[in-house]
Amino acid sequence: MPKCKGCQAEIIWIKTVNGKNMPCNAEKTTIVTESGETIVGHIPHWSTCPQFKNFKRGSDLVPKEGK
Ligand SMILES: [Zn+2]
Repeated sequence: MPKCKGCQAEIIWIKTVNGKNMPCNAEKTTIVTESGETIVGHIPHWSTCPQFKNFKRGSDLVPKEGK
């Protein structure tokens, strides 16, 4: 499993509907939408990474070895 270069957290790459690969936390999290629905999914890693401010873009977070 790939790891974040900044904080060594385990992450996964998820391809979005826009065709972009997004680094996300490997751990699944439940969130609640504004309409009250609950969704289980992965949070984009850059929203929780303590080192993210040191990266220019999310794409620089980890080497592109993971899938
Ligand atoms: Zn990180």
